[in-house]
Amino acid sequence: MDKVTIPVKQEGECYISLLKEGMEGYTRVRLGDKYMATHRFVYQVLNGEISDDLVVRHLCNNRKCIYPPHLAAGTHADNVQDRVNAERSASGRNNGRAKLTNTKVKQILHKHGKTNAELAEEYGVSRKVIYCIRKGLTWKHIRRPKYSRPCKLIEEES
Ligand SMILES: [Zn+2]
Repeated sequence: MDKVTIPVKQEGECYISLLKEGMEGYTRVRLGDKYMATHRFVYQVLNGEISDDLVVRHLCNNRKCIYPPHLAAGTHADNVQDRVNAERSASGRNNGRAKLTNTKVKQILHKHGKTNAELAEEYGVSRKVIYCIRKGLTWKHIRRPKYSRPCKLIEEES
């Protein structure tokens, strides 16, 4: 086989193939008169051939990445599940931000009697989000009520 050169660019922990994009957002590499998805090619060069019913998954969800530690063989079902997980976590992040408004954050800051879990439930966000608001780590531009800091009591106990 002729020598194959794959130009890459580093992006975070990923090495992104700069070859031409083929189907489904994967780049493709030319092998003689055939084309193959670049990540699949790289995986097979390093790990030996895999059967046609297996796919090469991107553990980093970056379809153009060819960094070997980010590649793993799996079934089509695994691959679909990877995408579902990726979309779920992406939309989860967006929702977490979209759901809260200045007004809601102000309300949260005034509800001293409630636990983080109760407020998380009430506003449809994670407990961590509430914790960070109360701690003043996020939504810093909202003025905190002067009286009674809800987190202070908890800290003094421990
Ligand atoms: Zn990667």
